[in-house]
Parts: sequence; C-alpha cells; structure tokens
Amino acid sequence: MGPAESGSSIEDQGLGKVAIVGAGVAGSAAAIRFAQRGAKVTLFERSVFPREKVCGCCLGAAGLAALDAIGAGESIRDLGLPTKFFRGYFQVAKASPTATQVTEEKRSRVPAVRIPIREGIALSRAELDQHLLTLAIEAGVQVRQPCEATIVAESGESVSIDAGTGSPETFDLVVVAAGLTGRFRQRDAADLRWLETPNGPMGLSAHMSRDEAKEIDWKLESGEIQMHCGRDGYVGIVCLPNGSLDIAAAVHPGKKTPSVMGGGKVAIQMKTLALLLDSGLFDSLQSRKLKLWFAEVACWQTTPPLRRRRVSGRGRVVAIGDAAGYVEPLTGEGMTWGIESGLAVADSWALYRLGQMTANGEADFGANWDRRAAKFQTRRRYLCRWVTGMVRYRPARWLACHVLRRAHWLATPFTRSLANGPRFDATSSIHRTASSFADASLRTHVSS
Ligand SMILES: Cc1cc2nc3c(=O)[nH]c(=O)nc-3n(C[C@H](O)[C@H](O)[C@H](O)COP(=O)(O)OP(=O)(O)OC[C@H]3O[C@@H](n4cnc5c(N)ncnc54)[C@H](O)[C@@H]3O)c2cc1C
Repeated sequence: MGPAESGSSIEDQGLGKVAIVGAGVAGSAAAIRFAQRGAKVTLFERSVFPREKVCGCCLGAAGLAALDAIGAGESIRDLGLPTKFFRGYFQVAKASPTATQVTEEKRSRVPAVRIPIREGIALSRAELDQHLLTLAIEAGVQVRQPCEATIVAESGESVSIDAGTGSPETFDLVVVAAGLTGRFRQRDAADLRWLETPNGPMGLSAHMSRDEAKEIDWKLESGEIQMHCGRDGYVGIVCLPNGSLDIAAAVHPGKKTPSVMGGGKVAIQMKTLALLLDSGLFDSLQSRKLKLWFAEVACWQTTPPLRRRRVSGRGRVVAIGDAAGYVEPLTGEGMTWGIESGLAVADSWALYRLGQMTANGEADFGANWDRRAAKFQTRRRYLCRWVTGMVRYRPARWLACHVLRRAHWLATPFTRSLANGPRFDATSSIHRTASSFADASLRTHVSS
C-alpha cells in the first residue's frame, strides 16, 4: 500500500518501507544507509551465511571510504590485510594453445611490472558479507534469511514482494541487489532485462590453502595484488588473512566452447591455468604441482557471462551493484561500485521523498535513479574495461611491461582515478539535506 492509499501523509512516513533483495556488499551497505536515514528496512537473502562467492577479494580505497561514511570502515579494515601494489605478469610470447603445452623458453621472457596503488585491503568475502549483515541488523534492519524474494505486483506508488510465505508484503521502494545471478521477478519484465556483450568473459575463483600454496612454493609479497594477463583474460591472486590464496579470473571462453553442461566451466579453468603457466612465474616443478592442484584439488565457483548491464530502475524498483551492471574489478572496483551505489540510492530516495513533500520531486524515481547510476559508474566501468580489453592484445602487453617496468609512475593518473569516488561524508550537501529529512523541525516547516 502506498502513501496515497494508506491515507497517511509522506511526512508521517518518512522514508517509508524499503525492501532490499540480496545481502551482498551492495544490499547490506544500502540497508545500513537506508536505516540510518530513518527508513523501515527489510533485507531478503536467499543463501545461508557465511557463503563464499566468485570474487578477487580486494577492496579498494574508494570502497573503504564509502564504508567509513556508514561507520563500517574501521571494523572492516580489521578483517583484512593491506594491499599496496599491483604486480603484473604479462604474457608476451605467443600463448600456449593449452595448459599442457607451455615451454621453458616462453617463461624466461616475461618480466613483471610493479605498480603502487592507494592502500586497500584483501579479505574473505564470506567474512565481509557476514560482517556487513551483522552491522545492518545492529542498525535496525529486519533480515529474512534464507528466503528468496520475488516481486509479484507493482503499481506507481508501491511494490509487493512474496518471500515464499504466500502472503505478499507491500513496500514503498524495492532495491534489487541480487548480483549477477539473482532472480527477483515473477516474470522477466522487458524493461529490466539483461543486455549482454556477446563472447564476454566469464568469472571463476577458488581458494588455495596456506599448506597447498607452501607445497607449490607460491609466495606473495606483503601488500601484493598479483595479476597475470594474457590473450584470454586475466587472473588475480591475493593472500587472505588466514594465509590462503584467493585466485580469481575473468576469462573469455572462446566462440567454440560449449557453454552448457559444464563444458564452458572446464574450458575456462584450463585457460586460467594456461594464463598462470604462460606468465613465467613458475618453474617446471611448480607448474606440475599447479596443474595437479587445478585438476584434483581446486574447488571452483563460476559465474555467467560477466559483461552485462540493465536499465537500473523503473517506477519503484531500482537496481544497484552487480544487479545493475558489472564493473570489471582491477583493484577492487566491483565491490566499490556495489557499496557506493547502495549509499547513493538511499540518499537519492531521501531527497526524492523530500521533493515529494515539497511537491518538487520527479515523477519516476526509478528512471531518475537509472540516469544517476549510469553517470555514477561510467568512469570506472570504462576505464577498467579499456585496460582489461587492451591487455588482451600482445603489442599492448609488450608495451605495458616494457614501459611500465621502467616508468611505473605513468600509471599513476589511472590508479588515482580508480581510487577516487564520490564523497559520502556528513558535510556534503546531499547528506545535510537527506539527514535533515528525519529532523522534526524540517517536517513541521515543510507541512506548514
Ligand atoms: C572473477 C571475479 C573477480 C572479482 N574480483 C573482485 C575484486 O577483487 N574486488 C572487487 O571489488 N570486486 C571483485 N569482483 C566483483 C564483485 O565480486 C562484485 O562486484 C560484487 O560481489 C557485487 O556485489 P553485489 O552485492 O552487487 O552482489 P552479490 O555479492 O552477488 O550479492 C547478491 C546477493 O543476492 C542474493 N540473492 C540473489 N537473488 C535473490 C533473491 N531473489 N532473494 C534473496 N536474495 C537473493 C544472493 O544470494 C547474493 O548473496 C570480482 C568478480 C569476479 C567475477
């Protein structure tokens, strides 16, 4: 039931009832922000936590700054290890057709590049998501878990959600933070359907335990994000606080690869292995052990094709984080986009409700958010995509490793740009306006 139907005014309802579908980083960050702004928030999550998911586990400086704005930054920094630089291995020789045909001669030719970045952290996704969810509960958010939420009806002013109980609940706003794989509608409505880039990369990740990494003698320096780049994509590796290595890759499966019945999954695992072996880091004994680990030990999780986006909002249904569109992560841009979009949608909603109270609001909140979200993610999305696209070409990799090895400072404008995000502190005007919405004196002023 919307404000008009209920008979009570928007002023009485404040930010109203907000449902959030999905408790990944985007959903939980949004839930905390909405609750802090005074909304009545219900968060639906279909999985039981703690749960792992495909991720490179690096959270960049901009993401941490956004978490600071909701009071979560400090405790989350305590969960991670600092990341301070990026070590890139670029496949310069011709790529191996398969992981079994890598030669010594190719390995010896590949130099590594070291690029400093603004400090972020590496942390377990299972711990991060669990921790943010706990903070959301402490902020007053009602959590339904495990519980798959489905939108069953929408009108101009309200949206109904069925959480599997058979009796739908009505909300003023539904924020979809259901990631790349989430389903949230009874029917696939045309206006929020995915637009996919044909032949885009697919994601996969696995954890290698401390003992397994020791056995292979795969060591990372403190603060290192290791990246292996080649024709088929890239693999990122970081050391997590428990000593295990997170290995995450975005790999192009190739046009001829069967993407159904697990065929695609095996192909991208093999391509990931080839990227690692071709990069020149491992000697032949290490390579053998790594192949064995890939074949017999690793427990891989995969994603659907990554390059996808959708219209981020219509009416009272809006999408944030991966559910609105994937941002290729280099130093932590994926989670940063999720967190920032979560905070921004809460602030936009506060302003929208304020506008409704003063009759200055735009008619369609969702369409308004769609425009904002597109503007918001464009810079990082295209910067990251440009870099990951370029390093698929051998001359670009050759240039990158020969030029950046001697002059890493040439990458500084780029790394700085990734580390800068919108300001979400209490002094910016949007927050003053949004937080003053909860202030009784303003409400009296507006309604008088
Ligand atoms: C290979 C790879 C490496 C990556 N590396 C990094 C990295 O190093 N750093 C970085 O910042 N980003 C990285 N990313 C991106 C990052 O993982 C995502 O951007 C981020 O997880 C998006 O968060 P989210 O909250 O939008 O979605 P998710 O984290 O996917 O959360 C969505 C949640 O919604 C739930 N859900 C779905 N449907 C429903 C429903 N109907 N009802 C209830 N719950 C539902 C799911 O269970 C899930 O918990 C990487 C991605 C890939 C593929």
